[in-house]
Amino acid sequence: MNHNLYLQFYPHFERQPNKVLMDTLDGQRYRYADVLATSRKMASVLLELGVSPGDRVAVQVDKSPEIVMLYLACLQVGAVYLPLNTAYTDSEIGYFLQDAEPHLYVCRPQVLTEAKHNAGASSVAQVESLGTQADGSLMDKVVSAQEMETVCEVGEDDLAAILYTSGTTGRSKGAMLSHKNLASNSRALSEAWHYTEQDHLIHALPIFHTHGLFVACNITLINGASMTFLPKLDVDELLDLMPHATVLMGVPTFYTRLLASERLNREVVANMRLFISGSAPLLAETHEAFEARTGHAILERYGMTETNMNTSNPYDGKRRPGTVGLPLPGVEVRIADRESGKEVAQGETGMVEMRGPNVFQGYWRMPEKTQAEFRDDGFFITGDLGLIDEHGYLNIVGRDKDLVISGGYNVYPKEVEQLIDELPGVVESAVIGVPHTDLGEGVVAVVVPAASKGVTEAQVLAALKDQLARYKQPKRVFFADALPRNVMGKVQKNQLRSTYTDTFK
Ligand code: ATP
Ligand code: MG
Repeated sequence: MNHNLYLQFYPHFERQPNKVLMDTLDGQRYRYADVLATSRKMASVLLELGVSPGDRVAVQVDKSPEIVMLYLACLQVGAVYLPLNTAYTDSEIGYFLQDAEPHLYVCRPQVLTEAKHNAGASSVAQVESLGTQADGSLMDKVVSAQEMETVCEVGEDDLAAILYTSGTTGRSKGAMLSHKNLASNSRALSEAWHYTEQDHLIHALPIFHTHGLFVACNITLINGASMTFLPKLDVDELLDLMPHATVLMGVPTFYTRLLASERLNREVVANMRLFISGSAPLLAETHEAFEARTGHAILERYGMTETNMNTSNPYDGKRRPGTVGLPLPGVEVRIADRESGKEVAQGETGMVEMRGPNVFQGYWRMPEKTQAEFRDDGFFITGDLGLIDEHGYLNIVGRDKDLVISGGYNVYPKEVEQLIDELPGVVESAVIGVPHTDLGEGVVAVVVPAASKGVTEAQVLAALKDQLARYKQPKRVFFADALPRNVMGKVQKNQLRSTYTDTFK
């Protein structure tokens, strides 16, 4: 049997050639038939360029519908699709190309000459470009190519993609994802979110990350649904599209920005069926404010590059603010002691661990790291700390690497952050540990104050005094205009730790 993920999408291309699969704000419309024809031509081009099954195709280009066709073409020929963050600099790209050894590297048209030159230093055999206007050297070749019809036969564990993790806690690692990993997760999400071909998604996420690529595009393709591609988050564009769409997938920043718009109301969301949030924690306050304004409870889910999506708040049941919901169909979740790996009692905090068809095949060329992150019984150690609450919902407490150990006691930053966030005059906060001679680490809070109301260090400290054990109380409170975030809305605590590293010196 051929386990190629492509075959899960293909029936919709046959069945509904004239349906529009993707469109853009500047009026480009791509029917299923158009996408099929172009991706099949791209598949021929890949073969002409010498791409063989298992070869990596690395891609660093700006978002466009053609990327989806390139992704499909890679699947079709059995190549391993390897998207790279558009923010990576030349030297970072150099590292990734060395590490991944792709046969083909697809870059932006404006850097083609340079990229060809740099490729000489790595083992990249071919370099092509792809622009946002269906332009670039790859598209030039596509114009005269024949449509390839055959689909490469692959096993379920063969790689469909390598995605580098976001690099929030250290250097990005290449997560190897199989055809089965992606197909099973897309099916599980479709079931959990009641996705159908009637759905129309507003796609404003980057497309090099698991959220925008696999969650968003695979679910669209596997259901024969449709989507509008936006180059980036623009609140007015989101609001303009809502009357014609049914689903929005966003990171928490999408929702805080939407709430800041006066245009967000019940009327504008009347056609929408589902608002999904993930990639970073959604504040319970944002969830509540959004529901009060629109009548929609944002559905928060939890996943990571290595595992695709793991848990989701329910479609029909209660979507609990501040939680990431229940395990997806086929996914096993457990909370274990960080050191021993023994499962802890319900309600206790520990390491979040996963097992299921969604869990990746290991880190690219890091066998020791891979081995270290799996328990003997096959559970993957996510690096996130959490607990299962009395309703069976998973609560993410923070990352293991962000855990503060002060005077030998564990301080879970989220517990402190939640209390600070509730204070009047506070927008949000981040709690970190920085070097402290006596305690090992000292607790520091970085607080974003509301523009209108001032809040002082003394007020924050006084408010926490009776609410938290002494060792959990911040020793210092600093104020900042905003928390440093990456494009996926993740707070860069590494950055904060280095900014405040000398606090107790
Ligand atoms: P790296 O592994 O390189 O340090 P990263 O973990 O940020 O980077 P991703 O795979 O993009 O890279 O992100 C996965 C992480 O994002 C999860 O492990 C978790 O910490 C966080 N995350 C995702 N969704 C949620 C959510 N709904 N609530 C809280 N955290 C989330
Ligand atoms: Mg990670």
